[in-house]
Amino acid sequence: MSRIALITGASAGIGEACARLFAEQGYNLILLARRTEKLEALAETFRIKYGIEVRTLTADVAKKEDVLQLEGLADDWKKVDVLINNAGLSQGLDPIQEGNTEDWDTMIDTNVKGLLYITRVVSPWMVKRKSGHIINIGSIAGKETYANGNVYCATKHAVDSLNKAMRIDLLPFGVKVTGIHPGAVETEFSEVRFKGDIDRAKKVYEGFEPLHAQDIAEAIWFAVNRPAHVNINDMLIMPTAQANTTHLVKN
Ligand code: NAP
Repeated sequence: MSRIALITGASAGIGEACARLFAEQGYNLILLARRTEKLEALAETFRIKYGIEVRTLTADVAKKEDVLQLEGLADDWKKVDVLINNAGLSQGLDPIQEGNTEDWDTMIDTNVKGLLYITRVVSPWMVKRKSGHIINIGSIAGKETYANGNVYCATKHAVDSLNKAMRIDLLPFGVKVTGIHPGAVETEFSEVRFKGDIDRAKKVYEGFEPLHAQDIAEAIWFAVNRPAHVNINDMLIMPTAQANTTHLVKN
């Protein structure tokens, strides 16, 4: 059987770009997200275009019972070579004293607990085979903190910390762990953050060339394809127009 990648948040943005790239390169895929139709459409395209096998799983990573559906995969599909912990989101951009606690719950449950639930199911499969590579999608928001980014930044700092912790725990089993930390990438991210306010979302990417989802997929592909003795611990990837969370040159 070909190599297998499990990608969470595969229905859009960075996850979808990873799915396309890995499919093109002949990986069999397990695609997970909440939007079934999007996953099914991608799966069908990949099967026809690349002749690969694809399993889709409609699941909310924040719901333990959804994630546990993965245990129902056939044994051959549990031989996951690459896990891309990508599902994540930001909700709102408010000062802490005005923050919406439901938004906080959603971000913490998805970005931190969701990543943990998935890892808890998949990492034992890798440990058993003494082989595998976990890619955790953090953010520049996990390296710095910006005004009104409070809870989103905290969740991504947690991912950064878990990335380091997983590397220690999985070290004896030869399982690689890589953190990928993008700056501004034009995806559905801002549309989700601003709850469907498309005009506000578009403004985030106006006046400069943001990263494209494909740029991040290619960086992940690079990390995954290093020789067995090499692990990329961390990659911080920014648009050329962005130095950090507060310095961005716009035309
Ligand atoms: P996106 O276009 O909005 O895609 C997010 C993906 O995550 C979608 O496929 C979405 O699918 C999935 N998702 C969200 N909540 C989920 C849940 N509870 N359960 C399962 N899947 C869920 O955003 P993106 O920019 O590609 O974001 C991907 C990752 O990159 C996130 O972790 C984000 O924090 C990180 N990141 C993004 C940027 C940026 O500027 N765009 C920068 C740094 C880091 P469904 O809606 O179908 O569930």
